[in-house]
Amino acid sequence: MSGEVDARRELAKQRRWVVKLGSALLTGDGRGLDRSGIADWVRQVAALTAAGCEVVLVTSGAVAEGVARLKLKRRPDTIHELQAAAAVGQMGLIEAYEAAFQKFGLRTALALLTHDDLSNRRRYLNARSTLRTLLDYGVVPVINENDTVATDEIRFGDNDTLAAMVTNLIEAHVLVLLTDQDGLFDADPRHHATAQLVSFGRANDDALSAMAGAGIGVLGRGGMATKVAAARVAARSGARTVIANGRSEDVLEKIRAGDSVGTLLVPDVGPMVARKRWIAGQLKTKGEVELDAGAVRVVRESGRSLLPVGVTATRGEYARGDVVLCVDAKGTPVAKGLINYSSDETRQILGCATRDIAAKLGYMDEPELVHRDNLVVL
Ligand code: GLU
Repeated sequence: MSGEVDARRELAKQRRWVVKLGSALLTGDGRGLDRSGIADWVRQVAALTAAGCEVVLVTSGAVAEGVARLKLKRRPDTIHELQAAAAVGQMGLIEAYEAAFQKFGLRTALALLTHDDLSNRRRYLNARSTLRTLLDYGVVPVINENDTVATDEIRFGDNDTLAAMVTNLIEAHVLVLLTDQDGLFDADPRHHATAQLVSFGRANDDALSAMAGAGIGVLGRGGMATKVAAARVAARSGARTVIANGRSEDVLEKIRAGDSVGTLLVPDVGPMVARKRWIAGQLKTKGEVELDAGAVRVVRESGRSLLPVGVTATRGEYARGDVVLCVDAKGTPVAKGLINYSSDETRQILGCATRDIAAKLGYMDEPELVHRDNLVVL
């Protein structure tokens, strides 16, 4: 398809990657974790980081490892037993990654998340800051669903969606869904000898959901439908998604080199446009901050972040992470953005220089009131 070569070539320039490894790959046929597989994926991730990329890993495999550690004869049926197995197995999972990354002098960190964490705006911002800080430290965060409190993956095999939400959260440029199939097919390759790999497409193409809806092109436990849906979620913040076979040799390096491996699904618009559209469209405003003339100019003309020093008043009750409307002295809307401080906190730091935030509040979450990436000029 036209555009594929260019779109593939673009991948080499992308800095922030989310790589998701599914249960089907990680577990050697129900015999606990495939540690040599993990060592190899970690080697590939280490190569990405050595090339200057930031990588977040989203991994399953806790239940399978828990089943092995608990010496259960088979995967349990009830949700609470599966959750318990995941809690036991998560220890092994993180041990395996930590040991494998250590060989490359890389540190890992564990974050167990749920979809709810990423839908709640305050927790969303907290998770975002934590992950960004970890990436700044050069750590490779390892994320799984928090199976103790959420069962989406156990029920639906849906770490694909979690990985896509993490992609939005950290504004990653590429989401790689590694599975045990070569990518998306236009028909189920197990039943149709003529089934073709879809090597390139637009994440929002209805034809993909039609294929997924017809239940063909089945992929792993998550299936094709969750992978197409994940690509669509990732595209909202402008990320490209590659669905590829984790068993294919040096798959991550090949993806980065622009080789035609797996299925590449691209967003319709650029990352920043997508993100801003997302902020502008998805969220309701909870309150207002009034900007002085200088701040109006900076926000409007230079597209810079909004600092507390440029804010003269605040109205309404909002929490950290809520969307607020930024208005000028006459009340004319200037911008909309995700605010880093609650209305109570904002009231205390109005007009304050950034260096004085900590003195006023006793802490400083972020130097900006609204970061420019989270600000949409109206
Ligand atoms: N998040 C769980 C895990 O990592 C669920 C996977 C599953 O249901 O097998 O194991």
